[in-house]
Amino acid sequence: MKTYTQQSLLIIYTGGTIGMVEDPADKSLKPLDFSHISKEIPELLKIEHELQWMSLDPIVDSSDIKPENWEIMAETVYKNYKKYDGFIILHGTDTMAYSASALSFHLENLAKPVIFTGSQLPIGLVRTDGRENLISAIEIAAVKNNNDSMVPGVSIYFENKLFQGNRTTKYSAENFNAFISPNYPILAESGVYLKFFKENIPYPRSGDKLILHKKFNPHVGLLKVFPGITREFVEPILTNKHLRAIVLESFGAGNTTTEKWFITLISNYIKSGGVVLNVSQCLAGSVEQGRYETSLELEKAGVFGGSDITTEAAVTKLMCLFGQNISKKKLFKHLNNSISGEIIS
Ligand code: ASP
Repeated sequence: MKTYTQQSLLIIYTGGTIGMVEDPADKSLKPLDFSHISKEIPELLKIEHELQWMSLDPIVDSSDIKPENWEIMAETVYKNYKKYDGFIILHGTDTMAYSASALSFHLENLAKPVIFTGSQLPIGLVRTDGRENLISAIEIAAVKNNNDSMVPGVSIYFENKLFQGNRTTKYSAENFNAFISPNYPILAESGVYLKFFKENIPYPRSGDKLILHKKFNPHVGLLKVFPGITREFVEPILTNKHLRAIVLESFGAGNTTTEKWFITLISNYIKSGGVVLNVSQCLAGSVEQGRYETSLELEKAGVFGGSDITTEAAVTKLMCLFGQNISKKKLFKHLNNSISGEIIS
């Protein structure tokens, strides 16, 4: 049964367009002081839930986000977990899908909602999409399913839709519907009613304690293949001693050039201890190594097939796994399986 009682929510501003207002003096955009948010969105005063606001220090444009910022976001949720029924993270759209993926790996067994949202237009502008995004994210985070949260876990709310965070990608730099989740159905939709698709919502096992995986290892690379890719470009990457793992963005169902130099470089990188995770450049569908001859060699070299994972989830999953002190065997097991719903299981 859906219930609607007063909830307490923590709203964390990390930076990005949603928190910007125009300075009347010179018309430049500057960060809003959130203690005055109801001046920009008076509708917030009508919300019956208890809302607490905080800004992270420092606030950053999301293009400047680093694993350290994710650690601060995850720790903030972890430390306040008992005090609040849910969390809204206001974040720039550019790397929101990376941050949502990262937090889904940072925070294991989340039984409360952590909803990321932001906007394409600053909150201080009349036509802003931030008003609807923020208000609906609050309303969604507050809905209960009996005594539990209706949408536990890390999600992204944008333009009427709630997506699973680690399945989402930013695909438009200008439309209000900036995000898509091609390999996973939406979790909820807001129209006249808030509609929840419970069959798509990954509910955690009840009673499991929240675990914070604190450290991320940034020594992960991203190699996107293209026709005509040269050895001169690839070699410095695959012989870089600092890189623990590489996300290989391949064509279609996981294909790359079969040129001998390329396969040899990949194979030598893996022999020297590196991990390669194959993800598709296509937004929808899955990597299936061995379906074509052009990916069979990768499979033989020891490349992991990334299934239907997004690049954002692949990069952050590797950073998280290499940040933990776990055996190679355990790491490989995690690469082949879903940790937090990021791949089909
Ligand atoms: N560059 C901004 C950011 O990602 C854009 C936005 O907020 O949407 O922080």
